[in-house]
Amino acid sequence: MVDVHLRNVVKRFGKTVALRGIDLDVNNGEFIVLLGPSGCGKTTTLRIIAGLERPDKGRVIFGNKDVTYLPPRERNVSMVFQSYAVWPHMKVFDNIAFPLKIKGIPKEEIRKKVRWAAELLQIEELLDRYPHQLSGGQRQRVAVARAIVVEPDVLLMDEPLSNLDALLRVKMRSELKKLQRKIKVTTIYVTHDQVEAMTMGDRIAVMNNGMIMQIGTPDEVYNKPTNKFVAGFIGTPQMNFFDATVTVENDKIVLDAGDFKIEVPEDIAKILREYIGKTVIVGIRPEHVYPEEFIPSKAGRLAKIQGKIDFIEPLGSDTIIHLNTGSNIIVIKLSGSHKFLEETLRAYIDIDKIHIFKKEDEKVII
Ligand code: ATP
Repeated sequence: MVDVHLRNVVKRFGKTVALRGIDLDVNNGEFIVLLGPSGCGKTTTLRIIAGLERPDKGRVIFGNKDVTYLPPRERNVSMVFQSYAVWPHMKVFDNIAFPLKIKGIPKEEIRKKVRWAAELLQIEELLDRYPHQLSGGQRQRVAVARAIVVEPDVLLMDEPLSNLDALLRVKMRSELKKLQRKIKVTTIYVTHDQVEAMTMGDRIAVMNNGMIMQIGTPDEVYNKPTNKFVAGFIGTPQMNFFDATVTVENDKIVLDAGDFKIEVPEDIAKILREYIGKTVIVGIRPEHVYPEEFIPSKAGRLAKIQGKIDFIEPLGSDTIIHLNTGSNIIVIKLSGSHKFLEETLRAYIDIDKIHIFKKEDEKVII
């Protein structure tokens, strides 16, 4: 187990800049998730940590050791890929034993270690089978067993669950997380699935366009996004965003969105005063807009909006309402199953839950 540090890592592929100066600190035994859209540089970051790719600039440090130019085999890292990459001509036992064999570890010790890894992944019964006799989920367990059998300092996983069906993915999610807690290996896990990231990561590094946009606990990136990208990437349905002009009416600071206005309380007004006359981006999560009949007792200060119901998505556990307020569509997430007979709806934005971003650089103001 070691801690892992990236210092200003830059990587280009021809004209493409894949990484634009990545700084990342992963603690000893931590489970960190790299989350972001396709092409944002997650896999490249992982491959640089593994030693499969060299950065053009910057350093990779394990513990106190600079490993930037060390080949993969001298780093004691293991990697699990999306395509399980188990060898088809080898039985499960030999697949798991392989990395130990090439290290020249004695047979009896190999047997013990393979048993240990197989037990952790609950595949002891499958050791005599060939990969073609396994399901996708079992094959992925073999790949994980082979990765941990060497007791790596760092475990790297690149979308390991994305080839599994939805149900199995959910099951493996919690199993992998429990396994990591048990063996406490420093883990860096790549995914573009925000639910996977939220449920598995001790911390999440949200990436976009070769940069880390924010690093924080699931709670921090969800509740305190530092920019509009993170606010919009995390959460389903997506956070509502609308432009509003900061104005003054009767000595009060008001966010004027055109179709509706939000008079902000003094604590928010104090911060917004320097933006008077400017346009800002307001963000509010769908679960923080309440239809009139459904204002929760714990609601904060409220701002009224009104509109026509565009359409409703009944999800069983939740009802998603698309409310057209004129020039904005505000999505509302209501817990439970509900019908709305009227075409129009009055609803309330929870002012204590709004996020405000600067228009120019989309960084958070509040
Ligand atoms: P995905 O989720 O689709 O796997 P990612 O976030 O892992 O994406 P990377 O695979 O790291 O993204 O790619 C980052 C950028 O670098 C992309 O624009 C990609 O096209 C480019 N890239 C990656 N590897 C190479 C390569 N070997 N040659 C050229 N360009 C590459």
